[in-house]
Amino acid sequence: MSSVPELEAPPSRRGEAWFRSHLDGRVLADLRWLGNQYQIMVFRLPERVSVADLCCTEDARLARLRADRLVNEHFPHDCDAAGCAPWMQYSEA
Ligand SMILES: [Zn+2]
Repeated sequence: MSSVPELEAPPSRRGEAWFRSHLDGRVLADLRWLGNQYQIMVFRLPERVSVADLCCTEDARLARLRADRLVNEHFPHDCDAAGCAPWMQYSEA
């Protein structure tokens, strides 16, 4: 395993939203700040069928970890080997 500089993420900011595309864009994980915690949503694309939906944490880093775990419960794969995209923040524009 090589080191992953992305783990040095900036501190979480309230109101932000994140997404990560898995398996060549066939699965999408979404994080939305609800005001007191993050909602984690997993969709199958392109139909955008909801696969999982969780509300559990106010820590963005933890929410991203849980979202990755949730995706892998439904679509077992190795994110490194499968070439999944990194977590990206939705632009606020
Ligand atoms: Zn993945």
